[in-house]
Amino acid sequence: MATLSFRTAVPALVFSFVLCGLAMACPCSTVTVPATDPGYNNIDGIKFSHTSQYRNEFRDAIAQAKRYCQTHVNIAHRAVVSDLDETLFDNREFDKANPIFEHGKWAEWVSKEKSPAFRSTREFLAWARGRGFAIFLVTTRGESMRGSTIANLLREGISYDGLFMRPDGNHDTHEALKTRFRKQIEEMGFTIVVNLGDQYSDLAGGYAQDCEKVPNRMYFNR
Ligand SMILES: [Mg+2]
Repeated sequence: MATLSFRTAVPALVFSFVLCGLAMACPCSTVTVPATDPGYNNIDGIKFSHTSQYRNEFRDAIAQAKRYCQTHVNIAHRAVVSDLDETLFDNREFDKANPIFEHGKWAEWVSKEKSPAFRSTREFLAWARGRGFAIFLVTTRGESMRGSTIANLLREGISYDGLFMRPDGNHDTHEALKTRFRKQIEEMGFTIVVNLGDQYSDLAGGYAQDCEKVPNRMYFNR
C-alpha cells in the first residue's frame, strides 16, 4: 500500500469517497481506513439501511463492480474478491436484536446458517463466475465457523472457488488479515479485478485493481 502523508492522505480519502459516491471506478490505492471511528451504531445504521440512499449506494457499488469486470474479461486467471457479512450476507436481523456486539451471540447467529444473501451481490457474483472470474470469499469469521458458513452459502445458492477465514488464534486487524489473503490469492496466479466490501478495511492494502464499497453505518472495523 502506498504510504501517504496526512496532507496527501486526507484529500486522497475525500477523492475516493467522491469517486465511489459517483459510482465510478474506485482505485484501490486511494482507499484507506479512516483514522477516526465514524461513530456508527446499530440503531442509526439499521434505520439508514432502510433508506433509498442506502439502496442506491449499494446498487451503484455493485453496478460499478460489474461494469469494471465487463471491461476486464480478457485477463487470464481473473478473480473477484468479496467480503461476506453486510456485503453478501445480510445480518440486519442479528444486528437489530443485538445493539451491543457479543461474540457468543454472534456465534449462535452464525450457527443458525440463515443469513439471507443480498440479491444484488449474489447476482453479481454469479454473473462474474459465469464469465470466468474466480470468486474468492474473504472474511474475518473464524475457522470454527467454516462449516456453518459453507452451509449458509449453499442455502443461498452461492457458488465460489475459495473461502478465506481467520485462523484460530489470529488477532490481526481486519485490514492486515484481508490484505494477506488477497496477496495469497495473487500469489496463486490470479489477478483480483474487483474487491468488494462494506468496510474500508476490506478494501485498503492493495492487491486489487478496483475497489467497491457497499454502505454500512451499523459498525466500523479496522
Ligand atoms: Mg463485512
